[in-house]
Amino acid sequence: MTANRLIVFDTTLRDGEQSPGASMNLAEKLEIALALRDLGVDVIEAGFPIASPGDFEAVQAIARQVEGPSICGLARCNTADIDRAWEALSDCPRPRIHVFLATSSIHREFKLHMAKDEIVRRAIEGVERAKGYCTDIEFSPEDAARTELDFLAEVVERAVAAGATTINIPDTVGYAVPSQYAAAIRYLKDNVPGIDNVVLSVHCHNDLGLAVANSLAALHEGARQVECTINGLGERAGNCALEEIVMAIKTRADYFDLETSINTKRLLPTSRLVSRITGMQVQRNKAIVGQNAFAHEAGIHQDGMLKERSTYEIMRPEDIGLTRTELVLGKHSGRHALRQRIRDLGYHLNDEQLKTVFDGFKALADRKKEIYDADIEALAESVIHTGPAFWTLEFVTCNGGSGTVPSAAVVLWHKDGTLYRDASVGDGPVDAVFKTIERITGIDITLKEYHVRSVTVGEDAQGEAQIEAEHHGRTLRGRAVSTDVIEASALAFLQCINRALLRQQQRINPQTEAVSVS
Ligand SMILES: [Zn+2]
Repeated sequence: MTANRLIVFDTTLRDGEQSPGASMNLAEKLEIALALRDLGVDVIEAGFPIASPGDFEAVQAIARQVEGPSICGLARCNTADIDRAWEALSDCPRPRIHVFLATSSIHREFKLHMAKDEIVRRAIEGVERAKGYCTDIEFSPEDAARTELDFLAEVVERAVAAGATTINIPDTVGYAVPSQYAAAIRYLKDNVPGIDNVVLSVHCHNDLGLAVANSLAALHEGARQVECTINGLGERAGNCALEEIVMAIKTRADYFDLETSINTKRLLPTSRLVSRITGMQVQRNKAIVGQNAFAHEAGIHQDGMLKERSTYEIMRPEDIGLTRTELVLGKHSGRHALRQRIRDLGYHLNDEQLKTVFDGFKALADRKKEIYDADIEALAESVIHTGPAFWTLEFVTCNGGSGTVPSAAVVLWHKDGTLYRDASVGDGPVDAVFKTIERITGIDITLKEYHVRSVTVGEDAQGEAQIEAEHHGRTLRGRAVSTDVIEASALAFLQCINRALLRQQQRINPQTEAVSVS
């Protein structure tokens, strides 16, 4: 690998999944992992295997099924974590174990209750144990950005000597500023023997809105791996956004002189896929992938654009995968055209799933004239979401209007194959639907937000329902599309219920839930 090659380490499935309400099931994680492979990331951090059986299964499935990138599993510096990480990764052609241990005084004193020499000893033991399993070992001194530089250098030196091949310097709490973070990277470069034989990596959080800026400053000082997530998902304010850092490097190649293996044309489809699967919307004015990122409003700008695009545009929309004209499919579009469109939108469906989508497409084409990308995405999404769902909707009907008591009847399938039906009244027809679903499933969730909007144009447009809810203090998101807004609302609500049940099932090890992860 050449000196100016930047390794892109994606942690959407690990740190990104720690975003409140962004938990995913196995099929959803696999879909994202395949999209990340197509995008061209070098390393996929697939999860934290000891955290829950769900995390373990996801890392194992991705390690077995996603060829190309290195697949990484996270572990604390202890035997059980590292052994479990290896168990999940052992079938992988290119496994990486990522061990971490906090080094800052505040974490040493209040979280770990360990002295400096104990930290050093644990770090060495962790790296050595992981090294017994595979050669590609990453070590992270958690909260490195708040660690005394001389102690940080000591820990890093010992981790390198113990066999770490990548040293990651996390700004775990998003506290760093660019010049200071860059100086820390420079200090390690200047003071740690053997540092030039390993890859220095950065992992920045966005609490002050500086994750990308801090990462870029560190790359300028010689860091050669960046840890990032699609749409900047992650704990609290999130992580460094992959699409932003990649396009900054590409657009300012004159300044950074770095290369990545990212196929930037896949950035927008991947962003949309992750947004739909996690239910986390991208803000309209978000850099690179926001809806307004390439929209020019001011007349003087539009005039300049018409004369010469580069007057107001530093990137070409097509380079991130934005096509100006949306391909419209209709009733007579064939299976082949649909298959191609689905692939372009970033989905990896098997023949059986494709058949289901094609049937749905034909049925939808009977109801509406023109089928847009958003319609196809909704169809593709519905086949990914089914599978491991605990409850699926068979039938919903409701009554509303003035002078009547709003009521609803709902029929649901339980995953064991039993059909359940119930009916109730509510403050309105949608409320009655939600109440009935809660009665059948026995899960009470607190509705925080509920939005309905049209996703395509025309009288026959599909309606999208979005729900944010809370269950046992955790945020849940649901999103669904249908030509019938009541059905879309019921499906979105059911998705929240399924996510709540998935959480319950996965929360076997509450101790690891509380672990703040680098
Ligand atoms: Zn993090």
